[in-house]
Amino acid sequence: MYGTLKDYLTGELAQIQAAGLYKKERIITTPQRADICVGAGNPVLNFCANNYLGLSDNPRLIKAAQQTLETHGYGMSSVRFICGTQDIHKQLEDTVSDYFQTEDTILYAACFDANGGLFEPLFSEEDAIISDTLNHASIIDGVRLSKAKRYRYANADMDDLERCLKEASSQRFRIIATDGVFSMDGNVAPMNRICDLAEQYDALVMVDESHSAGVVGPTGHGVAEQFNCYGRIDIFTGTLGKAFGGAMGGFTTGRKEIIDILRQRSRPYLFSNSLAPSIVGASLEMFGILKESDELHTKLMNNVHYFRDRMLAAGFDIKPTQSAICAVMLYDAQLSQDFAARMQEEGIYVTGFYYPVVPKGQARIRVQLSAGHEREHLDKAIAAFVKIGKEFKCIPETNQ
Ligand SMILES: *Cc1c(COP(=O)(O)O)cnc(C)c1O
Repeated sequence: MYGTLKDYLTGELAQIQAAGLYKKERIITTPQRADICVGAGNPVLNFCANNYLGLSDNPRLIKAAQQTLETHGYGMSSVRFICGTQDIHKQLEDTVSDYFQTEDTILYAACFDANGGLFEPLFSEEDAIISDTLNHASIIDGVRLSKAKRYRYANADMDDLERCLKEASSQRFRIIATDGVFSMDGNVAPMNRICDLAEQYDALVMVDESHSAGVVGPTGHGVAEQFNCYGRIDIFTGTLGKAFGGAMGGFTTGRKEIIDILRQRSRPYLFSNSLAPSIVGASLEMFGILKESDELHTKLMNNVHYFRDRMLAAGFDIKPTQSAICAVMLYDAQLSQDFAARMQEEGIYVTGFYYPVVPKGQARIRVQLSAGHEREHLDKAIAAFVKIGKEFKCIPETNQ
């Protein structure tokens, strides 16, 4: 049998190659951080990690992980409900609830699992899930696994959301599902208006904080803090794999009964291994660091503003960002790839995105800022953007 499948796959791979969509992985030989080595030891500055608070190589987290290895062992070899729950798993769940000001929290191996296991236990044929068109793949898959009726509204478009809410008015339960920050434009979901509509049309609200937790809001506590929506959002999901240390792990946090049911019925929780103790221990330390001071978040935001202001002054077209994601618009797909390749030659690691990842004619370079970036890192990146921007005639010769 494999011969025929092999021929088919070879053809598919060739098509992916021909379309220029084949994903190659660059090999990093250092820890994840601002200055990394790629391939044969070439040093580059990293502007495409989700390492928003610069915690991926934080010495305190490494030490906490090591200490937890000593005190709690290497692995759990079990799911949570059989014999996979340690004291520190419960502590971390309480800590997440405390951070988001929610009633209870359930941990997953990843946010992909949190979203994948969220909708199916809660909603059935009689219910409606109303989802932003730009939601993350894991929300889309999670919605697909439930039998609820699906509605989609244009990105952050409140009129379109209202249309869906009206159409779904005869359903038993309605839930609005949205990313907190959308990863391609860096825009934030208008949670205050979403909550208003939810109250008006009697719907629940779910937000995925993967790109927003640790980043948006006056002290980085996410969209509820940003829009003062505490108590109005029923369910938050999030990852420990981005701002929160970058290792892995996910969570759902929110209303007590919802979390309780997920512990009983959520399949990625019931049938997948517990989060490794070292990650749990380091995550507890991570929330401790965030509680001690707002320093990392403040540094991140200063970096975002510095970068954005200088890029705008140089004449670049930047999507108005409210997060740590800065989309440098180039519009042309080939240009986005050539530009990113030239940036890497200049020692700056950024990624060019084009259709189908972003809409046709909306190609761009996505820059992700981090508290791990120092001023000289930002200056180097900006200088490279300006140099290459002039080479490709994206910005006027005269600027800077
Ligand atoms: C990254 C991301 C995820 C997946 O998180 P993992 O913990 O890596 O599985 C889910 N949702 C959104 C919005 C994300 O950006």
